[in-house]
Amino acid sequence: MIRYDNSIVWLRRDLRLHDHAALDNALQASRQVRVLFVFDTDILDALPSRRDRRVEFIHGSVAALKADLEALGATLHVLHGAAPQRVPEFARAAGAQAVFCSRDYEPAAIRRDAAVQEALAGHDIAFHDGKDQVVFERDEVLTQSGRPYTVFTPYKNAWLRKLRSAGLAHHAPGERLERLAQEPPVPLPPLESLGFVRTNLAELGVRPGEAGARALFEDFLARIGQYKAARDYPAVRGPSYLSVHLRFGTLSIRELVATAQAIGGAGAETWLSELIWREFYQQTLWHRPDLAEGRCFKPEFDAIRWPNPAGHFEAWREARTGYPLVDAAMRQLDRSGYMHNRLRMVTASFLAKDLLVDWRLGERHFAEKLIDFDLASNSGGWQWAASVGCDAQPWFRIFNPVTQSEKFDPQGRFIRRYLPELSKVPDKYIHAPWTMPQGVQAECGVTIGRDYPAPVVEHKLQRERALALYKAASAGKARQA
Ligand SMILES: Cc1cc2nc3c(=O)[nH]c(=O)nc-3n(C[C@H](O)[C@H](O)[C@H](O)COP(=O)(O)OP(=O)(O)OC[C@H]3O[C@@H](n4cnc5c(N)ncnc54)[C@H](O)[C@@H]3O)c2cc1C
Repeated sequence: MIRYDNSIVWLRRDLRLHDHAALDNALQASRQVRVLFVFDTDILDALPSRRDRRVEFIHGSVAALKADLEALGATLHVLHGAAPQRVPEFARAAGAQAVFCSRDYEPAAIRRDAAVQEALAGHDIAFHDGKDQVVFERDEVLTQSGRPYTVFTPYKNAWLRKLRSAGLAHHAPGERLERLAQEPPVPLPPLESLGFVRTNLAELGVRPGEAGARALFEDFLARIGQYKAARDYPAVRGPSYLSVHLRFGTLSIRELVATAQAIGGAGAETWLSELIWREFYQQTLWHRPDLAEGRCFKPEFDAIRWPNPAGHFEAWREARTGYPLVDAAMRQLDRSGYMHNRLRMVTASFLAKDLLVDWRLGERHFAEKLIDFDLASNSGGWQWAASVGCDAQPWFRIFNPVTQSEKFDPQGRFIRRYLPELSKVPDKYIHAPWTMPQGVQAECGVTIGRDYPAPVVEHKLQRERALALYKAASAGKARQA
């Protein structure tokens, strides 16, 4: 039903036209719709580097979206400034009666949206936010006693039950796209004018926008049947690599879920489970916004005084731990902004439980580097690995970095890809090169301590220290109870 003459769709992490809830809702309710994107200085100014793959990815996706809108006779208005000022200014200048957007569940975004809503209300402009980036949000999946789930498997079962009963919405505006305001193209500020420079995104083959997302999804659909078997091996093209597209909404989560369901079988079902983990962490953050401030989901572990030994965090960050799988993973992160899921678990666990460094430092480092950084999943993943989170790995289970390497990169193919200095090390020693006898070191041209670091810690010893830290924190809880 038409309620407004003019409205705005304000895009944020939903950079597509296809199956877009806010766009569809605006087109249904309005005679004329304009589309807006703001390069928000409140977010951009806080980024530590001017060479940020995410900003380039967003810029490329915005350019693609603008071209798609221009093919429909419309355009994408792109502004640079603080959203709480620029959105109301633009809405007023356009004579809009309403602003539509997709809901965001991060605490800072909730605060931003409340500020925008208040400013708009001052000018009698309505603000409509709606669900788009998840299938089920906030309080939609609760236990029978009305509480948020804290264990994944029952959450997943309840999520699947709800999906069976509620089905998936589909937002296809079809002919309503004619309601997009027909306007000449407006300029897109170049990346450099936003204060950022190009990265190696193109070299990495990361294609932004809906077209990039679709190409990747099709590539994955040809392999989805093998996902369950292949996903844990970083040397293999096992996962979908769609995380950056899910982060910025260049694909619709509803479309991914519908496709996985239609395909069925072990591969697609396992992949669907991963998409549900994403929703699990989104709802966890929504119920526990203090997680964004680094509070542990299990408060007893806030009491741990992390030793943070000098040099340990730097060795981890700079891929100098002497544990090849950890170092190769950290180089993958640095060079590509991506890290394989198995390796995110291994490196996170290693930082907390082997190096005894506060996991929050690692969480922050990932937040700076990951192209797919998502507050909810990153916090969830770190708290899982550090055993302080919601349905986390039990604290007494500590990954052995050598065993993980033997199991998930048996021939060291991934290691050799990122650590060419170890390329000639025999398979037998690739997971623990410090065990190479002098003669073998000479034969393969790698002297440990010179060409590749000696291990920064001894796993067995550190494991005992970590167990003592966790045990003391757990005992503290027991005493309080
Ligand atoms: C310490 C740590 C930090 C992490 N930080 C992030 C992050 O900042 N952003 C992020 O998107 N994921 C994060 N993850 C989850 C996971 O590692 C990535 O989603 C996955 O590696 C992305 O690759 P993919 O798209 O090829 O995944 P696929 O295996 O193809 O999975 C498909 C999608 O499911 C979701 N997904 C998969 N695994 C998880 C998971 N464990 N938790 C939540 N969602 C999941 C992602 O959206 C992913 O794109 C983190 C995991 C750990 C252990």
